[in-house]
Amino acid sequence: MPTETDHAAAAARRGPGPARTAVQLADGRELLYFDDVPGLDRSAPDQRVLPPHAPRSEVRYDPVQGEWVVVAAHRQDRTHLPAPGECPLCPSAPGRQTEIPASGYHVVAFENRFPTLGGPPAGGRCEVVCFTDDHESSFSRLTDRRLETVARAWTDRTVELSRLPGVEYVFVFENRGPEIGATLQHPHGQIYAFPYLPARVARALDMARAYRAEHRSCLFCSVVAAEEAAERVVARTDGFVAFVPEAARWPYEVHIYPRRHVGGLPELEPAEQAELMSLYRDVLARFDRLFDAPAPYMAHFQQAPAGPDAGLAHLSARIFTSRRAPGKLKYLAASESGAGAFINDVLPEQAARRLREAGTRPPG
Ligand SMILES: [Zn+2]
Repeated sequence: MPTETDHAAAAARRGPGPARTAVQLADGRELLYFDDVPGLDRSAPDQRVLPPHAPRSEVRYDPVQGEWVVVAAHRQDRTHLPAPGECPLCPSAPGRQTEIPASGYHVVAFENRFPTLGGPPAGGRCEVVCFTDDHESSFSRLTDRRLETVARAWTDRTVELSRLPGVEYVFVFENRGPEIGATLQHPHGQIYAFPYLPARVARALDMARAYRAEHRSCLFCSVVAAEEAAERVVARTDGFVAFVPEAARWPYEVHIYPRRHVGGLPELEPAEQAELMSLYRDVLARFDRLFDAPAPYMAHFQQAPAGPDAGLAHLSARIFTSRRAPGKLKYLAASESGAGAFINDVLPEQAARRLREAGTRPPG
């Protein structure tokens, strides 16, 4: 089971890393610059006049499902698909102050102005992570250097947010495309620091606990070994394998696992982190080549929880799209939403073959 000392040792091996500068926004929220290179001036002040940040979410328990639900009614007022000149994630310019005070940036992480979580009733915290200041770019077009900075930002936030009082699970994710419900086009992801274990995560840990009790080994390690021997592998590197799972829920769904039993991003060695990030980018680029237009997608990392079950977890990145054919989306309709029973219209073996082929074609 990884300990604080393991995390500290891995951090020391990673070296000082790029510059990390913390500043405060006008309403009291924290913003962190993660730079590709050290020595940049990040002192530009936030010149906006904003009311103090006071999120008003609450967490309610559903006794029938045994699951938590976040009620965040204030989010109805959040920015929705702004015009390109009004993007709140672009850098600030003379006469136009955005969420990021600097006139240019590499990677930033900051508390969400319209958070799902946070504040006294709900606890937890929501952050936005911008991968580039280029509004028109995408994750699949980031440079190796930038991938390293993004990985350091994700790792930094995973470690720090896990330490916040009451936080049980740090969830790193990205929603891309209006079809998925992303309200901003600017390349960015989010991080939810949950004050509870989300239902699917808790369920997987329960399965891993039962498997360990019976087999004295890791459920995820055995799934990875089985998938590697099957016909649904999309791509692999020395330490990682990307595959479409046998029982994929989504038309195109890829899971990326380290072969080594590792709980989360903070435990990866620097070379492993670079390998994972490059494979993750490669899979996103394949998704962009599946259809006539870049695929809308949801991507996230499954990492170890903050609590005593950390040793049960095995890191994975999961990427899926609801697009099943050009112009056609899969919806979470009555069966999925009401019964939790997924129906997938695409054969996972076929999806894997198409994703393998998409690695050899230029972007469409
Ligand atoms: Zn933008």
